Amino acid sequence: MNRTPPKWYWPDVTDPLVLDAMATVPRHLFVPREMQEQAYDDIPLPIGLRQTISQPYIVALMTQALGIGAGSRVLEVGTGSGYQAAVLATIAGRVWSVEGLADLASTAQGRLRSLGYDVEVKTGDGWLGWPEHAPYDAIIVTAAAPEIPPALVQQLAEGGRLVIPLGVVNWDQVLWRIENEPDRGLQARRLADVRFVPLVRHSAEGAATEEMQVLRTELRRLVGLPAGNG
Ligand code: SAH
Repeated sequence: MNRTPPKWYWPDVTDPLVLDAMATVPRHLFVPREMQEQAYDDIPLPIGLRQTISQPYIVALMTQALGIGAGSRVLEVGTGSGYQAAVLATIAGRVWSVEGLADLASTAQGRLRSLGYDVEVKTGDGWLGWPEHAPYDAIIVTAAAPEIPPALVQQLAEGGRLVIPLGVVNWDQVLWRIENEPDRGLQARRLADVRFVPLVRHSAEGAATEEMQVLRTELRRLVGLPAGNG
């Protein structure tokens, strides 16, 4: 079987840092043994517990949209197999990743460590981000959310970027890029139609403070959602 990543080619992925990372991270070590034959097909694969490792193209597209470099501090929500985190760590200086399922978090942490990727993983609710290490230059969410979690935007540095799929499961999901621009404030751009597993909400305190409620309303407006609680 093929044990080295191919030289991927996608017309809209041109960042050399991203292409180099995609060409070095051994994806076959992040998928179950029985899936290894397909590790370098450009498709998502099941990783157990009804979760999936994303399609390489989507990993590359999202990573490019983060605009990261050697000095970047990056947060991932949805560690899963750890593959996306390894791609991030190949490019960025510091990477933290939050995973909701303890089993996946510990498997991914062990795998990343043994492969030499400098990523800190914790089990937790990604809706709340990881405030202890904020602010982040880039935040990537690898599960689909019904709306942008306000805590993630609060943890974004000035000039920081958030890349997140929004929408109902398997239907009408859109990948968004939100930038916290120093002069103009939050700017949103649609990147692609996508399909992700859902971001599960583990706690009720999504928008605990009044400031967060105001931000939540602004974020819903930014991506064209109705202002209410829906
Ligand atoms: N980035 C992963 C793929 C992630 S699949 C990879 O490269 O393999 C989405 C992951 O998000 C799943 O592992 C799922 O358990 C996790 N997840 C779902 N809801 C979450 C939440 N609220 N907080 C943290 N992780 C969550």
